[in-house]
Amino acid sequence: MEDIIQLLPDSIANQIAAGEVVQRPASVVKELMENAIDAQSRNIKVVIKDAGKILIQVIDDGCGMSETDARLSFERHATSKIRSSDDLFSIYTMGFRGEALASIAAVAEVELKTKRKTDDLGVYLCMAASQLKAQEAETCKDGTSIAVKNLFFNVPARKNFLKSNAVEMRHILDQFHRIALAYSDINFSLYHNETEVYNLYAGKLVNRITAIFGKNYRDKLAFCQEDTELIRIKGYIGKPENAKKTRGDQFFFVNNRYIRHSYLHHAVMNAFEGLIPSDMHPFYVLFIEIDPKHIDINVHPTKTEIKFDDERTVYAIIQAAVKKSLGTHNLTPSLDFDSNVNHDPTLPQFQQRFPKSDYQSGGGGNNYRPFEKSPQEKRNLSNWHKIYEGLEKKAIQENTYGTFDFEETTQSKNEENTLTFESNANKLNNEGPAKETSNPIEPAGERQSFQVHNQYIMTPVRSGLMLIEQQAAHERVLYDKFLDSLKNDSGAAQQLLFPSTITLNPADFQLILEIETEIRNLGFIFEVLPENRLEIKGVPADITNENEQELFEGFLEQFKNYQSTLKVERESIVARSLAKRSAIRAGTKLTSMEMNLLVDQLFASSNPNYTPDGRPTLVMLTLDKIKDFFEKPDFLWET
Ligand code: ADP
Ligand code: MG
Repeated sequence: MEDIIQLLPDSIANQIAAGEVVQRPASVVKELMENAIDAQSRNIKVVIKDAGKILIQVIDDGCGMSETDARLSFERHATSKIRSSDDLFSIYTMGFRGEALASIAAVAEVELKTKRKTDDLGVYLCMAASQLKAQEAETCKDGTSIAVKNLFFNVPARKNFLKSNAVEMRHILDQFHRIALAYSDINFSLYHNETEVYNLYAGKLVNRITAIFGKNYRDKLAFCQEDTELIRIKGYIGKPENAKKTRGDQFFFVNNRYIRHSYLHHAVMNAFEGLIPSDMHPFYVLFIEIDPKHIDINVHPTKTEIKFDDERTVYAIIQAAVKKSLGTHNLTPSLDFDSNVNHDPTLPQFQQRFPKSDYQSGGGGNNYRPFEKSPQEKRNLSNWHKIYEGLEKKAIQENTYGTFDFEETTQSKNEENTLTFESNANKLNNEGPAKETSNPIEPAGERQSFQVHNQYIMTPVRSGLMLIEQQAAHERVLYDKFLDSLKNDSGAAQQLLFPSTITLNPADFQLILEIETEIRNLGFIFEVLPENRLEIKGVPADITNENEQELFEGFLEQFKNYQSTLKVERESIVARSLAKRSAIRAGTKLTSMEMNLLVDQLFASSNPNYTPDGRPTLVMLTLDKIKDFFEKPDFLWET
């Protein structure tokens, strides 16, 4: 019998390796940028077309390569960065595996131009699917330019697997941010489809952070530093009030290499305990310097995971450092989580439409703050919650509340134990025969609703009592409207008297461009200006917000949050995000008219029971059950 084992040709071996190294355009961006950094470049320019699907080019002014090195750089395990296994334990470069260029060239067309300062002529090299297509001497600038075209052209399965341009660009920006943060002493620029997205000048870390995330970060950062024998920590943490619902702006760098580490992340979160709600994430950019012999960076091909030999100590030091930094900057808890929903008092409110006297306690300027309660009020509120919680638990145990089901009401109104308005409860209510209607609520004129703690609307209905959570209800109403506007391109706009210009950070600005059509369909009217600015001329009719900048930032924040967690169509995410952002908050006082309007709108929805997220908007307390509350408990009968 013949022997059957053969060595794979390099091109296939490379393609297999590429499966690990090159997952998407962003992986190429990362590898090329890291090579440019390892080459001691001072200026690095990244050029992207169609989210990297057409072109990814990185141009640097680093050390360049000789003709032989240029050719060798595409071989697998060809590297200039380590020579022996000992070097593995003292790695200070970003790369060391010698796999990236070989892998990239296996699944794309690559054009390399490179020249060392000492050489007169540079070299041009063209590769496609691991084959050398051309090589010639060429006059070129000092440094290296690598252009990767038609990624995955020879691996259709992978190409089809790529996500939308918006998603792929998001990944590219994530990689770009990580590297640009790690090397604030290098100039970086990024172009997408011929538009400049970033032009970052070398400078201090704090300037790099604000150039990436926005100027408003500047006074929301606290410096953090700790030197110990084992590690040195340096960086910035975001003050608690800058915490966000979206994860993603948390950066650990170990010896300037971006890493993810859930255990160390926990150390930071621990230090923030009590200062931010548990579902919020603080911003941080922390650099950890440690002797490479104490870490193992070789555990994962994409190298974002590393192991420390003494993780517990590193944990303790990080936690202490963050705590110290929070303490030194005197960032004591200033937030009121009682009302849980949103602690930003400047969020959109119904209040603009109210006469000021309706909601200002004791008059005085524009300083209405729904969450600034007097200590007495706070006590009352928490007590009230306690009473309610007890009741709620008991009620749930006994299955007292039913979610009010609209459909069911009309369809099964003759069945005894469904919640209908022709149930026994109605008779008790002595209101006469119930009307043939699918609407559980009486016409607004005959209805008397009460607002409880500026948070819930209590409405007597024919079969009992309905308790509506105002924010959840409004979110449902807005979501339905926005989705309808998106589906029919019909968003009604209210023109702003004074157009306002807002500035977004470059990543958010890119995102706006990606979802521009949807935003316009919602009813926003705006001009796109240079330098990441928008001139807002109109907002959707249902939005009452004084500050367009905050509205957009909050909306995008919510959008990113949903985009990373929800698997639903984009229109729905857009509608949800804006609804969530602009719904009235708990703490907003409503007039009777406002309440009636909201209740009517809620019941005009095809799904009034839940927010788009699935949070209940209302609970029903039927008269039967209310009556039960006042029965003598069973155990008393026994005695
Ligand atoms: P690694 O970075 O792990 O060594 P790569 O495949 O990324 O492996 O690169 C192979 C080699 O090509 C590097 O070791 C380096 O010598 C050379 N090289 C790659 N990119 C550049 C660049 N931009 N400037 C100079 N040399 C480079
Ligand atoms: Mg490399």
